[in-house]
Amino acid sequence: MAELPVDRPTRPDATTYSLTVLGCDGSWPGPGGAGSGYLVVSEGCRVLLDAGPGTFANLQRVIDPASLDAVIISHHHPDHWTDLHGVATHARFALAREVLPVYAPATLADRTDLSASPGLDWHLVTGGDTVTIGALTCSFHRTDHVDETLAVRIDGGGRSLGYSADTGPAWSLAEFGRGLDLVLAEATYTVDHEGTAGHMSGRQAGEQARRAGAERLVITHRWPTIDADAVAREATTAFGRPVEQAAIGKEFVL
Ligand SMILES: [Zn+2]
Repeated sequence: MAELPVDRPTRPDATTYSLTVLGCDGSWPGPGGAGSGYLVVSEGCRVLLDAGPGTFANLQRVIDPASLDAVIISHHHPDHWTDLHGVATHARFALAREVLPVYAPATLADRTDLSASPGLDWHLVTGGDTVTIGALTCSFHRTDHVDETLAVRIDGGGRSLGYSADTGPAWSLAEFGRGLDLVLAEATYTVDHEGTAGHMSGRQAGEQARRAGAERLVITHRWPTIDADAVAREATTAFGRPVEQAAIGKEFVL
């Protein structure tokens, strides 16, 4: 059973860089779980990074969604974006504010039926693009996954986060460049599943994060049917030091 937040966590001050997990199940939500979604807060800027099923409800246990500055969606697979419908409806009817910027690949905008939503302001991005959201710098990298799946490095306040999105092992986390304080990497299954889908095992995520010189590794996007401890064990061995596991409500301060 996924760990559900029961209280709003203590928010860090505006200068702290934090990553809060809103959902981390891979491909489909398990019992009590949610698809991929994370809240990134730095330099007074709040970004929803992916919006998989269940994540918009969990976001509201952490912050008022009216305070969001932008949404970034990595790709068009439903486990990463379907709650954008809730975000858009909330933005349209509940917010007394300008439209909410959404940064996403063109392949997503076409499939959501939200490309003309009055609550959203679409900014189409592709691999190699760098955009600024408030004081944050976001650099996008195309990964080894369907169509245009975009990993993103987010720099703010002298700290750096790298999010792998979904990827197979043919894309390298090292393409983020050096100086990563924390890598949030998909580790969908264990070594015995390698090559069966466009994802990484714990071993592959650990190896990649070590080669990228990441300071810390948080693994995520595990299929609900896969043993969490087994993935963490092989990721830790490959990374060379203990990895951390994403869980709903968990907050990582960079
Ligand atoms: Zn996925």
